[in-house]
Amino acid sequence: MFETLSDRLAGVFTGLRGKGRLSPADIDATAREIRIALLEADVALPVVRQFIAAIKERASGEELSQALNPAQQVIKIVNEELIAILGGETRRLEFAKTPPTVIMLAGLQGAGKTTLAGKLARWLKGQGHTPLLVAADLQRPNAVTQLQVVGEQAGVTVFAPDPGNTSGVEISGPGGDPVAVSRNGVAEAKAKLHDVVIVDTAGRLGVDADMMQQAASIRDAVDPDEILFVVDAMIGQDAVTTAEAFRDGVGFTGVVLTKLDGDARGGAALSVRQVTGAPIMFASTGEKLSDFDTFHPDRMAARILGMGDMLTLIEQAEQVFEQQEAEEMAAKLAGDDFTLDDFLQQMQMLKRMGPIGGLLGMLPGAGQMKEALANVDDRDVDRTAAIIQSMTPEERANPKIINASRRQRIARGSGMTVSQVNGLVERFFEARKMMSSMAGQFGM
Ligand code: GDP
Repeated sequence: MFETLSDRLAGVFTGLRGKGRLSPADIDATAREIRIALLEADVALPVVRQFIAAIKERASGEELSQALNPAQQVIKIVNEELIAILGGETRRLEFAKTPPTVIMLAGLQGAGKTTLAGKLARWLKGQGHTPLLVAADLQRPNAVTQLQVVGEQAGVTVFAPDPGNTSGVEISGPGGDPVAVSRNGVAEAKAKLHDVVIVDTAGRLGVDADMMQQAASIRDAVDPDEILFVVDAMIGQDAVTTAEAFRDGVGFTGVVLTKLDGDARGGAALSVRQVTGAPIMFASTGEKLSDFDTFHPDRMAARILGMGDMLTLIEQAEQVFEQQEAEEMAAKLAGDDFTLDDFLQQMQMLKRMGPIGGLLGMLPGAGQMKEALANVDDRDVDRTAAIIQSMTPEERANPKIINASRRQRIARGSGMTVSQVNGLVERFFEARKMMSSMAGQFGM
């Protein structure tokens, strides 16, 4: 999902490459492109407006960090604003002080409620809970049987209108009373000491007054601790209208986005939270019961930006790099005048930022780089320092002149072998090549 949006945003960031600073015209143009990207991804207009206003204000504001170049600044701001519209903090389930905790599921038919009931039950069971599934969708043919199937897959008990009936005979249908089933289900959970009850309710193909009324009656009968509004992320802009209808008709404490695996646009995900004010709590990403997880706004934003852990790196860079160092280094990285002194300085900066291996793992597409520098450890930094400090200033500034006899002299001076010196020089040229290609990639 989010491929179109990711691609578009990547294009915006590439456009900022090599800019020394952002002029008001640059900010306007960037904001306009981000706006188009969001609209194309089906993000609701009011959400887009607010997003763009925030980006513009922050990009021209005083808060800009000197440790980052304009492309990084914009990535950082967009990331933080994405996290904000996705809800900021991860919102976890709230459990009742006196069990059972009652979780009611609501949403349109086909949204993925029944599947979700099984996923949630499996997930809760994995955390040591003892959930009971209650089949209160008596509308959709087969919904009860389907819940029994997912319940079995999850290894969780299902409370159905006729619990004695395990023959697979059709027991669902508009004849039953879902309110009574729900109430009895909660009573059953209390009696059998289940600590969580998940009530699967009926949906219709569209928003419908009867369905809303039924859901509201179930809500009143079971007094849920959480009402989760389940919404198919593939329905685009309709997700927002549906969410508003459920908010007004039943109310909900959290949102579950389903079918996130299928959508290239996914603007619904970016709009629902902002429009309804309710947090997105879970995300479903496939038909299997395991395709399910807690929704983390920060991880989702990172995924949309397609930046791997580049964002973490930006954060750390900001904390560690001093302004001067960072600016000079960024300028040098881009060019061929990256010297052995810079190489050493960089290694020392990296050392300050934490274990070098971990750091390399954070760079997107750093596979080949990781391999090339796999052997770099902290002791290596010290050895490198010894070798480079045995070079003349001329050699450090212009490593091409380091010929065989110079290498021998440097080896003697630093107490290293000639092959260690060779290795370092080789690595330097390799790193320089990689630095300049990375600098291009990230607009440094
Ligand atoms: P309900 O009517 O709301 O109970 O919806 P169902 O649980 O029956 O789901 C409707 C269809 O969507 C089923 O075919 C599910 O297998 C499918 N489905 C549910 N969640 C997901 C998901 O996250 N990804 C994909 N690809 N399919 C899903």
